[in-house]
Amino acid sequence: MSEIIKTDAVVISKMDYSNTSKIAVLFTHEFGKISVLVKGARSAQAKTGRTVDVLNYIQVILNKKETRELQYVNQVDLLDGYSKIKDDLVKLKYTVTGLELINTLIPEAEQHSRLFRGLVKILSQINNTTSHPAIPMLRFILFFLKEIGFELQFDNCFYCGKEFSDAESVSFNFEKGTICNDCGKDHLVSFTFTKELFNFFLCLRQKESNIQVNEREIEIAYNFIEKYLKFHVPEFKGIKSIHLY
Ligand SMILES: [Zn+2]
Repeated sequence: MSEIIKTDAVVISKMDYSNTSKIAVLFTHEFGKISVLVKGARSAQAKTGRTVDVLNYIQVILNKKETRELQYVNQVDLLDGYSKIKDDLVKLKYTVTGLELINTLIPEAEQHSRLFRGLVKILSQINNTTSHPAIPMLRFILFFLKEIGFELQFDNCFYCGKEFSDAESVSFNFEKGTICNDCGKDHLVSFTFTKELFNFFLCLRQKESNIQVNEREIEIAYNFIEKYLKFHVPEFKGIKSIHLY
C-alpha cells in the first residue's frame, strides 16, 4: 500500500538515473533518510529537478510505499537554497562534509528528528556566518556523534576520574576516551590533544561563538574525528569531502 506524505527535507546527494531521471537521497524531518526518484529531472525545464538539488532545504510531497526502494516525488517547494554557502568554496566544503557523514553513517528510514532540526539550524548558521565555517560544522559533528551513539566526553580521565581544566594536554584512547597524562603513561594512547586543541574542543562544547583557532588545528580536529569514526565503524572509509581541496 502506498501513502501520500508531506515532509521537510535536506537533499544530501543526487545522481543521474536513466536518460531522463535522477535519484536523490533526502534527509527528512519525520522519516529519516529516503531515496527518491525524480522523473524527468534531467530536462532543462524541469523545476522539480532543479529544486531537488544537493544542499537545498525543501518541502516535499512523496508517494511512499514501504516495499519500494525508491519513493516518487509528487511535488516540491524550496524553503532555502543557502546561496551564500554555494558561492563560497570553504563554506561548501565543510557543509558537504556534514551531509556526507549523514549519508554514510545513518541507515535509511531510521528517524532522526533532532538531528534534522540541528542540521537545518547549522546550515543557516554557516550560510550567514562571517567566521570560519569549520567551527559551526564541527559543533554539529559533535552533536551528530552523540545522536548516533558515539558521544565524545571531555570532562574527566577515563581511569582516575580527574577533571580536566582548559589548559592542559590530554591523551585519548579511541575505545576508552580521554585520559590524563599520569594514566597515559600506563595505558594505550591512540591520540594526544595539545593544550590548544583540547581547549578548542572545550570551547565548541560551550557554544562560544568567538573561537580563536588556526587552520592547522582545524585540520587536526577533523582528522581526529575521522580516525575516531573509523575505529568505531569498521565499514567507514573516511570523510572524502574534507580532503577535496
Ligand atoms: Zn587519570
